[in-house]
Amino acid sequence: MPTIRLHNSKTRRKEVFEPLKRNDVRIYVCGPTVYDRAHLGNARPVVVFDTLYRLLRHVYGADHVTYVRNFTDVDDKINATALARRQAGASGTLEELIAQRTEETIGWYHADMDALGALRPTHEPRATAYIGPMVAMIQSLIDKGHAYAREGHVLFRVRSYAAYGALSGRSVDDMIAGARVEVAPFKEDPMDFVLWKPSDAETPGWESPWGRGRPGWHIECSAMSYELLGPSFDIHGGGIDLQFPHHENEIAQSCCAHPQAGFATVWMHNEMLQVEGKKMSKSLGNFFTVRDLLDQGVPGEVIRFVFLGTHYGKPMDWTAEKAAGAAGVLRRWRDLAAEYDISPAEPYAEVVAALSNDLNTSKAITFLHKQYNELRQRRNAAFHFHMSEGKLGDLSRNSEEVDRFVSSAKLLGLLEEGLSDWWLDGADTPTDGLIAWVESMLLARAEAKVSRDYAKADEIRARLANMGIMVSDGKDGQSWVVDYSNPNLGNWSKN
Ligand code: AMP
Ligand code: ZN
Repeated sequence: MPTIRLHNSKTRRKEVFEPLKRNDVRIYVCGPTVYDRAHLGNARPVVVFDTLYRLLRHVYGADHVTYVRNFTDVDDKINATALARRQAGASGTLEELIAQRTEETIGWYHADMDALGALRPTHEPRATAYIGPMVAMIQSLIDKGHAYAREGHVLFRVRSYAAYGALSGRSVDDMIAGARVEVAPFKEDPMDFVLWKPSDAETPGWESPWGRGRPGWHIECSAMSYELLGPSFDIHGGGIDLQFPHHENEIAQSCCAHPQAGFATVWMHNEMLQVEGKKMSKSLGNFFTVRDLLDQGVPGEVIRFVFLGTHYGKPMDWTAEKAAGAAGVLRRWRDLAAEYDISPAEPYAEVVAALSNDLNTSKAITFLHKQYNELRQRRNAAFHFHMSEGKLGDLSRNSEEVDRFVSSAKLLGLLEEGLSDWWLDGADTPTDGLIAWVESMLLARAEAKVSRDYAKADEIRARLANMGIMVSDGKDGQSWVVDYSNPNLGNWSKN
């Protein structure tokens, strides 16, 4: 069994992963608030933790991993969208409008994440189905002196939990000095956070010992992970933006409610996604959803491939050139695999080892590039041999090596059968964008040569070569081939 090492945000070290129970590896990932389409950044944790899920299933067995990812379906943004619909004349009670909105959004989320090749988690609990366990956990925190009720609110008493701040490495006093904490008359301390809050007639609410109200966001994950995974489990994941305060608050709630248990052993955080070097934001005009990209003809598999090119612990940049490069590579891989009858096989040990080393997905992909190149050359040699012998029909449709290549790609969630057959349809992919870009570089190089600027011409050639585009000069002008073993392939814009 390969040794898995994971970077634990809690200890700030890469550690050997040792599950609490080998026959039931348990992982919880904070899921989306379902009020709108998922944007491209929201897809990053989905792909990252799906890849981890696939690795764990491979190593421990598919039936021995439980993956929980929640839907936050009670939230003020959801209420606002429902209110807006009612004001626009939609019929139905507010509760019905909220339910419609969350149903619809969950449907979109599933369709979009399925398109990225993400497996559905074992459980996808909705917060509204766990109000009872949340109320029970809040009551037990009050009973233990870790929470207090005031004016229809229940607040967590942050000073009652000495380890508060350990995950993000901050002290409570630094947090107060640095943060914009909400000061409210019903708070004992500005750091205290809401476990329960009162609802008015315009807001969904549930009866509770503290009056009609609704839960705070943080308690949802504590209650749902407890119900579905127990008080101690193996891995808790989410984006780095959730580390403080959300994850810090989850730890405080869960560890105070279940002081004998350890809550999550390993904490994993993915870094943020940017677009063309800038933070994604509506005002910069670079904000888009996964569906926007799919509708533009960027296949989900291509999005996934681009994501896997950057380690989850580093900020990643989405660029159109990367998408173009990824589409080109995946098309080659798909074309090769399509020539063979594929049978299940063991993935390459090198790919399993790369993933086991804190999900080194880019190393796994680099290895597959190299492997592809070899398989392609072998296939071409065999093809020429059979051609020259005039027995093309004898070309073997079976290759254990190709089987291993495909099953290695599948471990990364690539080359899955369920994904669309986009690569068969030549015209509509961003590869054309890549070709246009290379052609424009070659034009610039030709112009440089005409004006005898050979230094510039050489520089353009070197820049292209660095990215796996090999240019040669012949009597008919410039021609180029793609070097698929180049690890920078798919990274056009970075170079
Ligand atoms: P939210 O619905 O905003 O709670 O976000 C759902 C998930 O998406 C969380 O795990 C966030 O950390 C993650 N997320 C949000 N924005 C980004 C981004 N730009 N890059 C990567 N992950 C993100
Ligand atoms: Zn959470």
